[in-house]
Amino acid sequence: METEQVKCLIIGSGPAGYTAAIYAGRANLSPVLYAGLQPGGQLTTTTEVENFPGYPAGIGGPELMEDLRKQAERFGADIRYGEATAADLSSSPYKITIDNEKVIEARTVIIATGATAKYLGLDDEKKYAGMGVSACATCDGFFYRKKVVAVVGGGDTACEEASYLAGLASKVYLIVRKPYLRASKVMQQRVFNNPKIEVLFEHNAVGLYGENGVEGVHLVKRRGEADEQSYDLPIDGFFLAIGHKPNSDIFKPWLETDEVGYILTEPGTPRTKLPGVFAAGDVADPHYRQAITAAASGCKAAIEVERYLLS
Ligand code: NDP
Repeated sequence: METEQVKCLIIGSGPAGYTAAIYAGRANLSPVLYAGLQPGGQLTTTTEVENFPGYPAGIGGPELMEDLRKQAERFGADIRYGEATAADLSSSPYKITIDNEKVIEARTVIIATGATAKYLGLDDEKKYAGMGVSACATCDGFFYRKKVVAVVGGGDTACEEASYLAGLASKVYLIVRKPYLRASKVMQQRVFNNPKIEVLFEHNAVGLYGENGVEGVHLVKRRGEADEQSYDLPIDGFFLAIGHKPNSDIFKPWLETDEVGYILTEPGTPRTKLPGVFAAGDVADPHYRQAITAAASGCKAAIEVERYLLS
């Protein structure tokens, strides 16, 4: 297999990866960044980002990521398409396989692989994949103009997706398993104030039905063991917004993770237990998971790389 030696390898192209690339580029570390399956990361599936400092009027997610990419390239970051498909971190230089066809031998590695949307685990989610089931409203919402959709989840993502879909669809049901929303107050208010959104508290989706695509969802309304009611709700689209899974699988044999798979780092730093290997952004952050916190940890990781290479 083809091999290449690099000083600083960055895996992932979300706010953490690109910020690490900006800092490593400016420090003359000639960073090589592989963008992964979703160049630009999760923010490319968001519409408006209102809480990234420096944008008083907000900025589109894809636009923000494009700007970060250009900023990294301006300082010499070598940004490439490709996915890290295997890792051997048994000794330095660390070996990362890209697209199963090339091995990068890296003196330092910044893992900024982010997280991926979770599904409920229903067989019907697979059966109707691409036929009415989606985990990204901004990617697929367009197909549901003037139609009826359901969003599952009660967090900020679910509220954001429901609000976005309400701008396209004729009706949006928000399916929430608890009797309350977990989302921030401002997002909750947006949902409650939208006449097109109906929140179904204490509901669970247990299946989907339809001939050539989703035509409805089987629901169970639950208020304790004794009070359960099953019914079918006609919908055209079923959107998941129930959280994310960190993309850490290939690193798990070499690094410590928590039970969900988030990479464990030395508190307050992106340092893993391996010298020269750092984890930044959502892959190592079960708590904050914000673009700005990811960017900050990418910055810290690049500074750590610089110090490590000097020492
Ligand atoms: P969260 O983990 O915050 O919320 C997940 C939601 O999905 C919860 O309501 C949870 O229910 C529900 N859920 C999880 N598993 C299931 C299941 N099997 N069946 C039914 N429901 C389920 O994830 P988010 O993606 O919403 O947010 C992640 C982070 O990103 C948060 O910190 C959030 O604040 C942030 N964020 C911020 C935004 C913004 O500020 N603009 C936009 C989007 C995200 P339960 O409450 O019962 O556990």
